[in-house]
Amino acid sequence: MHQQDLALGAMGLVQEEPTIFDVGRPGLTGVDLGPCDVPGVEPTEVIPEDWLRREPAELPEVSEPDVVRHYTRLSQWNYSIDTGLYPLGSCTMKYNPRMNEAFARLEGFARLHPYLPAERVQGAYRLMVELQEMLCEISGLDACSLQPAAGAQGELTGLLCIRAYHRQRGQGDRRTILVPDSAHGTNPASAALCGMKAVQIQSGQDGIVHPDAVRARIDEKLAGIMITNPNTLGLFESHIEEICRLVHESGGLVYCDGANMNGVMGRSRPGDWGVDVMHLNLHKTFSTPHGGGGPGAGPICVRRILEPFLPVPRIERDEEGHYLATTDRPLSIGRVRSFYGQFLVLVRAYAYIKTCGYAGLRAAAESAVLNANYLRVRLQEHFPIAHDRSCMHECIFSDQQLQAYGVKTLDVAKRLIDYGFHPPTVYFPLIVKGALMIEPTESENRQTLDRFVSAMAAIAREARENPELLHQAPSRAFRRRLDETQANRRPILTYRMGAGQNRKGQGSKNQSV
Ligand SMILES: *Cc1c(COP(=O)(O)O)cnc(C)c1O
Repeated sequence: MHQQDLALGAMGLVQEEPTIFDVGRPGLTGVDLGPCDVPGVEPTEVIPEDWLRREPAELPEVSEPDVVRHYTRLSQWNYSIDTGLYPLGSCTMKYNPRMNEAFARLEGFARLHPYLPAERVQGAYRLMVELQEMLCEISGLDACSLQPAAGAQGELTGLLCIRAYHRQRGQGDRRTILVPDSAHGTNPASAALCGMKAVQIQSGQDGIVHPDAVRARIDEKLAGIMITNPNTLGLFESHIEEICRLVHESGGLVYCDGANMNGVMGRSRPGDWGVDVMHLNLHKTFSTPHGGGGPGAGPICVRRILEPFLPVPRIERDEEGHYLATTDRPLSIGRVRSFYGQFLVLVRAYAYIKTCGYAGLRAAAESAVLNANYLRVRLQEHFPIAHDRSCMHECIFSDQQLQAYGVKTLDVAKRLIDYGFHPPTVYFPLIVKGALMIEPTESENRQTLDRFVSAMAAIAREARENPELLHQAPSRAFRRRLDETQANRRPILTYRMGAGQNRKGQGSKNQSV
């Protein structure tokens, strides 16, 4: 392949996908360390003879600029929050201040080893203790464990605490968990993983859970309810207090999925609603970039009655300072993760909360809600809204009006790529047919939201006038529409020598959009 083609490809003009093997040429190299000049050191003295490679590895031979350009080009084919609006509902893809990245990279944090003796890591322990206190304050609960590595693991950890609580009271047969039909799929999955039975409750016509629906499902086997608030329809569960009361009266506990906390933080506290345990997604609400499957953290906060069941180790304090307590916690569910959690994610969250302060967190939630309501009102002209009432941090539209033109939600999502936007979450929650779930987050300004509205308006017009444009979309992206099922089920993630480059639309690379 010619260098010129590569350059054009980098500008998105040529649909080619050169691999690092294709850009190389025999004899090129990116580093030249020269021969080893440490006297008397032969490779065989360091590495046993039979471990030494006899044939050179078939590695690409490339110069340093080739490598840098190759990976930079790959990064340009990707869409990220650094490129533009990323309105992926429920995922809270907001912009995360670079300052928090800088804090996480400070040597004293980044180079900590989990086996360092307590006296060497007092600062880290103190950061964790203070973060726990701040998360308790934000959630309105009494104790916190920072161990869970993600929201879903927080759910599992919280449910294990609920189960341990019932068992300790001799009520181990309380195994039913009520889960509303708007819940994220992880909720029933977590319930099943910890040996509970998830029983679905239907949301009302207005998109929220009604006490009667809960009452109808209550019996002596009730372990509790798992409720998301604000829920995944972007609506505030306004009967939450009564629901908590009903569940408590029946001997159950209330789990709150707090992944959407950026819609309420600083305004309202789950502990005050009556919630007993919840997780927070630090990588959504509290400033850790996510989306590439990178590290996250899903700490749980609990009411006092559940504290004895929290995972070990707990950070305690004596006259010599903080230390990790693992023993003398007979009721603990044990560890859920190695060491103490995703420490550098905790550093980012700590920095974010400290720099925002109470007023800043509250302002973030208010902006998230304002932005979502702005889109809710402005987009209604072009797409039918699922629930026509004020929303929290996200709003949901459907493809109902477009069906007459043979256009579906997926077509709209793909066409948005042509307009330079990441598509919203589609076909979730399941209870809205053809859902387009849009979460602008607090980090977008009015100009960006207006450009998004213009793009959506243009797409609605195209759907009526030239639906084929939407069926063919994306047409301006590096890749055409992929076979997403194959890309998920049979991803080809390694280079196959001699297989040639996979051209256009083979769906061979695991790209999600
Ligand atoms: C993201 C999300 C989860 C799961 O969190 P992970 O960190 O991805 O495991 C659970 N519930 C809701 C509502 C979410 O949006």
